[in-house]
Amino acid sequence: MEVCESIVCPFCGQASEVAIDTSVPSQRFTTDCEVCCRPFEVTVTCEPGEILGVETSSD
Ligand SMILES: [Zn+2]
Repeated sequence: MEVCESIVCPFCGQASEVAIDTSVPSQRFTTDCEVCCRPFEVTVTCEPGEILGVETSSD
């Protein structure tokens, strides 16, 4: 099941939405900010149907 979650770019503060597959309990991926175009890492913990926590890292 996919849930939309709002994430905030660690560089410019722009919020954007991503679809998270909540059937995967812990996941990490890299996305590009749509405003400043810099890549950042997103770490998500979830349980099926619900997102428990989202962290972004500028590494
Ligand atoms: Zn940005």
